[in-house]
Amino acid sequence: MATCDTRLTRRELVAEGTMAFYFAKPPGFRHLAGQSLTMTLIDPPQTDDEGDSRTFTIAAAPHETDLMIATRMRDTAFKRVLKSMPVGTVVRIDGPNGVMVLHDDATRPAVFLAGGIGITPFLSIARHAAHDQLPHRLYLFYSNRRPEDAAFVEELQKMEQVNSKFRLIATMAEPDKSSHSWSGETGFIRPDMLQRHLPDVKTPIYYFAGPPAMTMAMQTMLEDIGVSADAMRSEEFYGY
Ligand SMILES: Cc1cc2nc3c(=O)[nH]c(=O)nc-3n(C[C@H](O)[C@H](O)[C@H](O)COP(=O)(O)OP(=O)(O)OC[C@H]3O[C@@H](n4cnc5c(N)ncnc54)[C@H](O)[C@@H]3O)c2cc1C
Repeated sequence: MATCDTRLTRRELVAEGTMAFYFAKPPGFRHLAGQSLTMTLIDPPQTDDEGDSRTFTIAAAPHETDLMIATRMRDTAFKRVLKSMPVGTVVRIDGPNGVMVLHDDATRPAVFLAGGIGITPFLSIARHAAHDQLPHRLYLFYSNRRPEDAAFVEELQKMEQVNSKFRLIATMAEPDKSSHSWSGETGFIRPDMLQRHLPDVKTPIYYFAGPPAMTMAMQTMLEDIGVSADAMRSEEFYGY
């Protein structure tokens, strides 16, 4: 792991209350799709008890020019500074870190279970797989409360046309609270949803990311359908 400085190049809204931030890739910085970094604000104009550092997945793929992170804009000093600091502001990063990277054995499909902004490692892996034409079959189950909360969903829908081995199954837990119509899956990711969309639930390697209650529920669900522990990959991300 290396520590280096980088600067903000741009930011954009990617879903309701959800922003992406782009940083120049420092010379020599290399990451694997799905890995993360820890970002520290340098002398921020405000701070609070939650501190000046956060761990984020690098949502951009390794071939991209910038490092991109994405997050829900909760009301903390860290996020207020991130949202308002001028383009060009320098931040410190440590990384890359993490084990949410695609397995080598392409005969086993990857199944990604994403809750909300936990989509970030899978966005990076999906972009990387499409760019490098990886042979793996990829199934992304992406659960949000409402369509307007689903960051990058349009890009992921289009990716099915670019990469014939990629499937997106988006599901909305609270579609009735949306101002958009929704005709896809509804509710949390459940065993019957996996069984309807996967040719076989036992052979894939499963990856999951999202709020702690979701990742715990995914682990229990997979254990209940007979998936072994060595076929499950996740990491613990707290403090957003
Ligand atoms: C590996 C990993 C990487 C992460 N990377 C990032 C990152 O780069 N940036 C970042 O900001 N955060 C990241 N997180 C943190 C994280 O995803 C947030 O804690 C979380 O998503 C909370 O915000 P939300 O508004 O998206 O969740 P919510 O909107 O509360 O939940 C998202 C969805 O999860 C589902 N869900 C919720 N509870 C349950 C349950 N009990 N059972 C089943 N499904 C449920 C629902 O469909 C819900 O719509 C990461 C987490 C992990 C584990």
